[in-house]
Amino acid sequence: MSVLPWLQQYWDHLCDYKIQNRVPQALLITGNKGLGKQHLANQFVFSLLCAKPLDNGLGCGHCDRCLLLNAETHPDFIQIRPDEPGKAITIGQIRSLINRLTLKPQFESYRVVIINPAELMNNAAANAFLKCLEEPAERTVILLITDKPSRLPATIVSRCQKLSVAKPDKEIVLAWLKQQNVETLQSNVSTLLGLAQGSPLQALDYANDGSLTLRNDCFQAWIDIAKQRKHPVNIAENWQKLPESPLIFWITSWIIDMIKCCYQTKADWLYNPDLKKQLQELSKQMELKELFKLYDLMLITQQRLNTQINKQTMYEEILIKWFELNLSK
Ligand SMILES: [Zn+2]
Repeated sequence: MSVLPWLQQYWDHLCDYKIQNRVPQALLITGNKGLGKQHLANQFVFSLLCAKPLDNGLGCGHCDRCLLLNAETHPDFIQIRPDEPGKAITIGQIRSLINRLTLKPQFESYRVVIINPAELMNNAAANAFLKCLEEPAERTVILLITDKPSRLPATIVSRCQKLSVAKPDKEIVLAWLKQQNVETLQSNVSTLLGLAQGSPLQALDYANDGSLTLRNDCFQAWIDIAKQRKHPVNIAENWQKLPESPLIFWITSWIIDMIKCCYQTKADWLYNPDLKKQLQELSKQMELKELFKLYDLMLITQQRLNTQINKQTMYEEILIKWFELNLSK
């Protein structure tokens, strides 16, 4: 296990806390999805709990404490997450955490709690959690992880030290993706990274799960609608069976790229540099203000995703608008 290259500076920062013996009682780790926040936090857990950490601060991986961590049975490590993906973290979960924290840590070093995604604590849970921050438990470090810090109550945020993971340098990430044997072709790696909105771990997932092929198929359908070879309602019927993330982002990215093409942007700056030729072709004679209207519709759609929206209707609305836009060209 090594530190992900774009996280090295944050790792050094965490190690400094430990070396200087001033590990914060609550640390809020923020940053976009797919940057490795949980990975960084896990490594810090090993670092704090390992009996014989390595010189670079990482856990040794084979002492009795590390083995307990690997087996997820270390008594001084508590992980709080929703019982089901997307569900809230409940007051029941936080109450049982508070109960556990009234006991002393079992070993002589730290006790660590990770709450991820922290913004999923509902109001009652967040209020109860405040108590953990106001009355810190003995030798306890709480790591809150979120990509949506604005959804956390200010009362919690203000009581945490912050560590904000920034979007990494593209060159570092491209080099890392190549090391993972993602693709030998630079252009494809670049495309993956663009589709993953700059998140290296997401790009790696996309490379392994065939997302690029699916994206290409969907884009072909998008062209077919523009050329009136396929009917928007039929495509909507196919698309509503696909996971809306990342599909909604892909559609949005085509529209943004078409807008950029109207401004003669360089391929490097597009989300889909590999589709530049087709996107440029599509954007020709297209009214910029119509493209912006379509973009607005995508923003509204993204907000609607959290509601009980009928996906068939949602895609029909987008695709019919796209169809009409091309008719009036
Ligand atoms: Zn160890």
